[in-house]
Formats: sequence, C-alpha cells, structure tokens
Amino acid sequence: METKEAVIIGSGVAGLAIATRLAIQGFRVKVFEKNAYPGGKLSMFEQDGFRFDAGPSLFTQPRNIEELFEAAGEPVRDYFTYQPVNISCTYFFENGKMVKVAADPQTFATQLEEATGEPAINIINYFADAEKLYHDVGNIFLNFSLHKKNTWLHKRVLKALRTVKSAYLFSSLQHYNKKVFHTPEAEQIFNRYATYNGSNPYKAPAMLSLIPHLEINEGVFYPAGGMVSITNALYNLAKKKGVEFFFDTPVDRIVYTENRALGIVARDQNIPADVVVSNADIYFTYGRLLKSPVKAKKVLKQERSSSALIFYWGIDKSFTTLGLHNIFFSQNYQQEFEHIFTRKTLFNDPTVYINITCKEDPADAPAGKENWFVMINVPANSGQDWESLKQTARQNIINKLNRLLQTDIASLISSETIMDPLIIEERTGSYMGSLYGTSSNSKMAAFLRSPNFTPGIRNLYHCGGSVHPGGGIPLCLKSAAITAGIIEKDQQKYHSSAH
Ligand code: FAD
Repeated sequence: METKEAVIIGSGVAGLAIATRLAIQGFRVKVFEKNAYPGGKLSMFEQDGFRFDAGPSLFTQPRNIEELFEAAGEPVRDYFTYQPVNISCTYFFENGKMVKVAADPQTFATQLEEATGEPAINIINYFADAEKLYHDVGNIFLNFSLHKKNTWLHKRVLKALRTVKSAYLFSSLQHYNKKVFHTPEAEQIFNRYATYNGSNPYKAPAMLSLIPHLEINEGVFYPAGGMVSITNALYNLAKKKGVEFFFDTPVDRIVYTENRALGIVARDQNIPADVVVSNADIYFTYGRLLKSPVKAKKVLKQERSSSALIFYWGIDKSFTTLGLHNIFFSQNYQQEFEHIFTRKTLFNDPTVYINITCKEDPADAPAGKENWFVMINVPANSGQDWESLKQTARQNIINKLNRLLQTDIASLISSETIMDPLIIEERTGSYMGSLYGTSSNSKMAAFLRSPNFTPGIRNLYHCGGSVHPGGGIPLCLKSAAITAGIIEKDQQKYHSSAH
C-alpha cells in the first residue's frame, strides 16, 4: 500500500504532538513552520546571562506528554524529566496578608485558613467538587470532539448530566466562589483560575471551578531545563518517528477544490498531501490560508481570550520571600476585569504574576540575581496605543512591587525585554495576541469553539489553542490526540468505502 502524506502547518505543542501521532498511524509527515525554531509560544531566549521561558510558565498534567510517548513506544525519561513543585504559588494581598500554598489540597486548605481565616473545610470541599466535575464532565469536554455524534451517544454523558448542577452553567465563577467562601482572599484566589484560559471570572461560567483540580489535586510540576524542555522533547520524539521539519517556511495557502484539501503552497511550491492539519490560529487558517474572510469572521463571533504584557527582567538581588510562582493581587479585581474585557484597556492596579525559574534551576540566573518573568493580563489587541500603555503599566507594576516587597525595584532591574500583544501575534501567529485562542466567557464557549475538522472540506483538520478543547499546554496536547483520533477514523471510513 502507498504511504500517505500528511502536512502540518505550525510546530506549536499541538503541531508537534500531532506530527508524532500521525507518524505512528503510518503517514509520512512534514511540518512547515514560519519561525526558525519549533514550539510557537513555548520557546525560550537568553539575555545578559539570564534564561527566560518566553511564554507558558505553569506546567500541569504531565500525563498528556507521557501518553504521547507511550503511544510512540519511546521511554519518556530518555527525552524529558520533571519534578513536582511543593509550593503551588505565593500570594500577596494589598492588606498585607501573604500566603504560600502547597500543591496538595489538605495542606493548601490549612495554610489558607491560617493566613486568611477561610475555614479549611470550604477549601477541601471545593477541591473535592472540582475533582468530581473534572472526572464526570471535564473528561468529556476535554478528551472528545463535541462535534461528533458518537461523543453524545456514550453512557458517560448520562453521568455527566447528573453531575452538572445548574450553578456550574448559570452562575459566573465569581458568583459561585462568593457563595462558597467567607473571605475575600479565598474568593480572589479561586476567581483567578478563570485567567488560566484567558477568561473573566465575573462572566465565565462556574464550570471553570474544575481548573483548580488540575493544579492542586493533580499537582504542579517543573520540567528539568525549563518549560522549553517540553518543546524539545516533543520535537525530538517527532524526529525519532521520522517526521520532517521545514523551518523558516511560512505556508501561504491551503489548496482545496470543492470539498477536499489537496495540499499546501509554501515558498511558491506546491506540496500535495492526503491530509492537512493546521496548527495555526483558526482565524488565520480561514482568513489567510483558505482565503475565506467570511468563515474567518464567523470565528470572531466568539470573544478572543485576553493577552499579556510581559516584562523579562534580570534582577540584581535574590528574594527569599518569593518562589517559582508569585501573585500580587489587585485591590479591585472586578475593576481590573472590567478594564480588560469591557473597556479594552489596562487597570492602574493590575494583578502582577512573577515567575522565577532560577528558584528551581539556579543556572537560569547569575549568582545572587534572579530572572523575573513579570506578567499582567491585558486585552487582546484591538488597536490600543501599546507603547504608551506599556510605559504606564511598567510604572504601575513597579509601584505595586515596591509597596508589597518594601524595596526599590527599578534600581534592581539590570536587563529588560518587553513582550506585548502585537509581538505575540507577530511571533506566534495568534490573532490579536490572544494567549488562549477564544475566551470561555460565554456559557456556550465549549460548543462555539471551532471543531477539529473542517465542515465541508474533507482531509483538512485543526489542532491547537484556538480550536476545541482550547488553550493551555494540557488542552493543546489533548486537541492533538482528539484530531489524530478523528483522522484515524476518517481514514478507515474512506478506506472501507473505497473497497
Ligand atoms: P502555538 O504555540 O500557537 O504555535 C503555532 C505555531 O504555528 C507557531 O509556531 C507559528 O509560528 C506557526 N504558524 C502560524 N501560522 C503559520 C503559517 N502560515 N505557516 C507556518 N507556520 C505557521 N499555557 C499553559 O499551559 N501554562 C501557562 O502558564 C501558559 N502561560 C502562557 C503565557 C504566555 C505569555 C503565552 C503567550 C501563552 C501561555 N500559555 C500557557 C498558553 C500556551 O502557550 C498555548 O496555549 C500553547 O502553547 C499553544 O500551542 P499551539 O499548539 O496552539 O501552538
């Protein structure tokens, strides 16, 4: 039998994972990437003796990576190692409260009770509910296509329906959390989980209360060598499985006639394929690669996720109070989200996230110094004056850190690079610089997200943060698995109908 050809557009985590999955299915796989390096948002850079992961910093659910290696029959430990992180996050509040919480539910609950007075039992019950919600409902939403009949005919759907309380669908996450918790600190900590997929806790449904399950019940991990090791492991695995990579090779368009994809055009060359998978943002896949502005516009019916401003700072001091993940909360969380999602601008008291990888790997910064990845959530780009917003945000962040860390941060910054939504779009092809494709602010979000196949165009598929089941490394890896599953079934169907 002739070997079938698969072309993947983009080498983000999902692109890398599906390349391996299709190679396992027997395809000859070629990956075309516009950048000179693999990984998309999951990349790194070095600056003045400091190493920085450019994008993602929180690593959960390593199981998704292990499953891929198992499917490929390769020992994951030969490519990738990681360790659990004991402290999930250190939270700072403007009222002077500070709490370091563990990445296990019981200790987390005790620590939060001691620091804020929130009864531990409320927190323990919340994690138990989150676990049930994840297992009964999240598993369907995240591991199966929502656009295939078979998903809905399975008996697990009945179990899911029994678990879904109306509050999960009809309350916002913030409303739900306010009912559960007695203290503003606990409410704010659990509201923040909406930002894990670029959403607004005051709008997004309480279904997102399952997210803490991934972080606290299942644990937080740190990959040896930093987050970029995930990219390196997936890239090396794909190469081991015979996948061919073409870097610095932007794909200009997908070739299709009537109802079937035939291949791609890259650098004026026609590359025929039996299967095309786009790992590029779905908006650009329709708008630029399929030249279908009407379909691209349809994608925009769903609100884009938030973006970020990131300041990569080399800091000339070591802070013992800080850990790997640190949050300095806004005093007015509601106003912050109102600014980001409604006014599409920045709030003057932003919640500041600082990731410091040299806490786990001292080689990431010179002795006595620290590599700070300082991030605030901002609206997706809609033409704001980013130069001016960056300067204001920088000063607001410095003022806040000076207040909460009792120091002069500006005098400690010896090295700086800044990333904004425009740069995120330019580097990773993410429309409007959104970090997670579309937001989950609508209760129908999971159903409105684009499917992993293209209705009306056979042999053209999609994976990655802008399609089902959504953004973030775990979900992107799941999206690659879902898409590969659909392709396998379609191939069997086409094969049997041909005989
Ligand atoms: P992407 O990373 O979006 O890559 C797509 C690739 O396609 C790119 O390499 C691009 O160059 C390429 N491409 C696009 N168009 C073309 C074309 N025409 N031709 C060829 N190549 C093309 N997730 C977490 O799990 N934890 C976090 O802590 C976290 N924090 C984040 C912080 C930041 C600042 C950012 C930006 C993201 C963060 N995320 C986080 C989200 C996570 O990074 C993404 O959801 C995930 O990496 C997206 O992977 P993807 O497979 O969709 O591909």
